[in-house]
Amino acid sequence: MGKVPRILSWRNMLVLSLAVNFSLILRILKGTDGGNSSYLVSIWPVVSNSLDRTVYGDSKWPVVSTTASGSSSLSSASCTYNETQEDDHRIINLKLGDPMVYERYWQEMGHMTTMVIAGWQSLSYFSDNNNELCWFLEPELAKEIVRVHKVVGNAVTQDRYIVVGTGSTQLYQAALYALSPHDDSGPINVVSAAPYYCSYPLITDCLKSGLYRWGGDAKTYKEEGQYIELVTSPNNPDGILRESVVNRSEGILIHDLAYYWPQYTPITSIADHDVMLFTASKSTGHAGMRIGWALVKDKETAKKMTEYIELNTIGVSKVSQLRVAKVLKAVSDSCGNETAKSFFEHSYDAMFERWKLLKQASKTTKGFTVPDFASQRCNFLGKAFEPQPAFAWLKCEEGIVDCEKFLREKKNILTKMFVPYYGNLNNAMIETFNHLR
Ligand code: PMP
Repeated sequence: MGKVPRILSWRNMLVLSLAVNFSLILRILKGTDGGNSSYLVSIWPVVSNSLDRTVYGDSKWPVVSTTASGSSSLSSASCTYNETQEDDHRIINLKLGDPMVYERYWQEMGHMTTMVIAGWQSLSYFSDNNNELCWFLEPELAKEIVRVHKVVGNAVTQDRYIVVGTGSTQLYQAALYALSPHDDSGPINVVSAAPYYCSYPLITDCLKSGLYRWGGDAKTYKEEGQYIELVTSPNNPDGILRESVVNRSEGILIHDLAYYWPQYTPITSIADHDVMLFTASKSTGHAGMRIGWALVKDKETAKKMTEYIELNTIGVSKVSQLRVAKVLKAVSDSCGNETAKSFFEHSYDAMFERWKLLKQASKTTKGFTVPDFASQRCNFLGKAFEPQPAFAWLKCEEGIVDCEKFLREKKNILTKMFVPYYGNLNNAMIETFNHLR
């Protein structure tokens, strides 16, 4: 285990592995035995999972420095890592996203988002919200959700029902429960245009529900009758702004707008869809608070979603809701401050810096290219820019058949591969907005 104390559990190791340095990743990507194939990178460094540990064993996990770079600039992408380690023994796990990129910003804002919650608070299951629909929604959170969307101009909130969930992952399941027919017509197909967020098929099918089932790629979907189409915009993994592709009247849409925030993509219009999912994980980087929210047009759908969450977890942590309310308040307040940069300007700069490095690496190595995004004007930031997603879809040159295997075996980089879903061995993914230390 090199210099890592033995007392560290594997969970600690996951955190350490998060601290992988972005420039190291770029350095490795630039390495000489580079070949040619397509793979996808996500700009958040990484967490590993138990499977990875089984495959590679703890002894091979990277020893990385958790020392901060020393720069207080949030946009600085400079990092440190243990130079004494041989590259050959470092495994960089870029499979899973862990949005730690804004940590520095929140450290600097510390006093504004610190909360003290006394032991006698948050005892009740219920929130004191006069909300006959989502009875566990904290009123302070509802207020700040509406406010932040108004400030950013990225989604309609007027005449919408807010349903809070334990991450948007729970809300996705709640939406499936709410939108699936509950008669005996059998499970409804859930489709999304490939490449799609690779957890969706797994979440959809994990309980083999009688209500819904994964139906595959929306682009090739031909079955008659009702279906649910999941539209992720900007899309995970390729960062493209999307619309529904099946376009049939029987289609029921869920819009996952987790990344429709100005640090990742220009805000070109106010999203106005029937069911829109958002999450603190991507908007402010507070994945650990596990709070997501749905903006829902139809009252019955919102009721059913609430019912699912009631059955599933009897509500959503009040403490987390209050903390996210406080964070969102700080975000909206920062946008009204003319003398200092807003949260979104800071986070935009941080992502910009990372994409600049990645583009430079792509130019220098010639082994891979990054997507060519069109620049669009962002109504919120008041300038035109190219999307800078939280992951990168890298296209390698021809020649390497199995990109994931190549990166794993030759470069010690664990990527997300999409083979089961897209049938294409040339695709894999790394995260782009994880930790920078
Ligand atoms: N939707 C998309 C497109 C995502 O990429 C993710 C996380 N990777 C989620 C939803 C899940 O978000 P949460 O942490 O709110 O469950």
